[in-house]
Amino acid sequence: MSKSLNELSSAATLLARTRIVLVETSHPGNIGAAARAMKTMGLRQLVLVRPRQFPAAEATARASGADDVLAQALVVDTLAQAVEACGIIVGTTARPRYLEWPVTPPREAAEWAAAQAGDAQVAIVFGREQTGLSNDELRLCQRAIRIPTAADFSSLNLGQAVQICAYEWRLADLSGVAAALPASEPLATGAELAGLIAHAKATMTRVGYLNPARPKRLPDRLARLVGSGQLRHSEAQILRGFLTAIDEALAET
Ligand code: SAH
Repeated sequence: MSKSLNELSSAATLLARTRIVLVETSHPGNIGAAARAMKTMGLRQLVLVRPRQFPAAEATARASGADDVLAQALVVDTLAQAVEACGIIVGTTARPRYLEWPVTPPREAAEWAAAQAGDAQVAIVFGREQTGLSNDELRLCQRAIRIPTAADFSSLNLGQAVQICAYEWRLADLSGVAAALPASEPLATGAELAGLIAHAKATMTRVGYLNPARPKRLPDRLARLVGSGQLRHSEAQILRGFLTAIDEALAET
């Protein structure tokens, strides 16, 4: 499964490189609505993490002609699998919540993704209808989008949240920011970032810098640092090599 995910298009435009990821969607109608929202804005890659029911007649009905997006949708077991090949991973949240990393409106996030991405694959991740994304799932993301709403009624229908983000992605794509700032080296992927964070935590624990029983804010801040969206593949490799050298030096003592 992850092989076909890694083969998703890495063509030049931001829209062609961006996948919409829906996590544990309960209502198949919302999957169809998301597919329709995507297709109107030129987005094609839909990835479903453990949908409750898919394929489903209601999804096809609500897609209103975006059946091709549904037909090509990939179904995976975990969010980590869905984003492992992505250099840019953006979550979405209806609730203001404690997060150590930036929560931005969709326009700013789209412009950031367009400017940073080079030719990296991009994911926008949407949560469950009832409970949204977990904090652990948001930790896999480098930014969180919050669509600015009325303060006392912040939760949009899933398909409508996809529509607004897809529209902003389209505007950013049409503005040509991405073409103006090509990356000279590929960004580190989601899998490389997750590997670096896990390795750093293990080595920090070994040297007594991180106490897993009382981690305080260190894991969140580490995730924010590593997930700043700027880290290149080559830089992630340097840090992994440095950590390995520390591990080896400790093994010798
Ligand atoms: N009670 C849930 C609401 C989930 S709505 C919560 O507190 O998060 C389902 C999904 O739609 C969310 O996970 C998010 O992906 C998207 N969504 C809904 N309203 C949004 C908003 N104002 N900003 C960003 N995403 C939103």
